[in-house]
Amino acid sequence: MNILTFDIEDWFHILDNPETKGVSEWSKFESRIHQNMEIIFNILKANNQKATFFCVGWIAEKYPEIIRKIVDSGFEIGSHTHYHQLVYEQSPLEFEIDLIKSIDTLESVSGQKIRYFRAPGFSITNETPWAIEALIKHGIEIDCSLFPTERSHGGFHDYGKSEPVWIECDGMKIKEMPINLHSFMGKEIVFSGGGYFRLFPYGVIKNFTKKSDYVMTYFHPRDFDAKQPMVPGLSMFRKFKSYYGLKHTEAKLTNWLNDFEFIDLNSANERIDWINTRILKMN
Ligand SMILES: [Zn+2]
Repeated sequence: MNILTFDIEDWFHILDNPETKGVSEWSKFESRIHQNMEIIFNILKANNQKATFFCVGWIAEKYPEIIRKIVDSGFEIGSHTHYHQLVYEQSPLEFEIDLIKSIDTLESVSGQKIRYFRAPGFSITNETPWAIEALIKHGIEIDCSLFPTERSHGGFHDYGKSEPVWIECDGMKIKEMPINLHSFMGKEIVFSGGGYFRLFPYGVIKNFTKKSDYVMTYFHPRDFDAKQPMVPGLSMFRKFKSYYGLKHTEAKLTNWLNDFEFIDLNSANERIDWINTRILKMN
């Protein structure tokens, strides 16, 4: 099963960087989201392809026409928080207030009920079970925020195989559809979006996909924007990771959509045998 999702934010919504931390920094940059969204819409239209869009509430507030176009084009939306902050850097209360604001904003702009959520940077960790509790409390049915292994910032250890699971937390349950990991030279990597998707030639991506029974993609509007400026404050390594190979993303994704079947979260949810899916206990 291959699931196509996009995180809808602007080119300057870069995490872990003081120069792009929050609203007061974001206001210094010019938006490029409209032109980049058009590229995504065109790819999907040309391939008659469904997808799920996790949207930042701040974007919905500023540019409601973008959210309306996603919905009017027949796509489903989820929340990608309101102010795009790392969950493990927030207090439980800050997280919950932000979640409510994003859900309220996205529901009022889209007219859709918000049932899906993805945290910025897959930042729900073993240390933040309160985030899962808040998601359940506010009506989220499927979470896509877990990075199923340990990594430098956060990650979720003891997840086991990267596949959909039930998360049980404080006696309540939620469906989890995490990012998928793939072994490469002794390391567990994510090839379905971000730096590695752009770094690897398409043949490698194709080969990894054939070997995977669960692929969860994540693309951003900026991934298709080879002309974007670089945000200030990044190390050489992060510059490479953030900007390498941008001009090939569109063609690579198009090849990928041609070679494999991709579905949205709603279809994936219907196909998964949730009755026999394993349960992962948190806290
Ligand atoms: Zn994001």
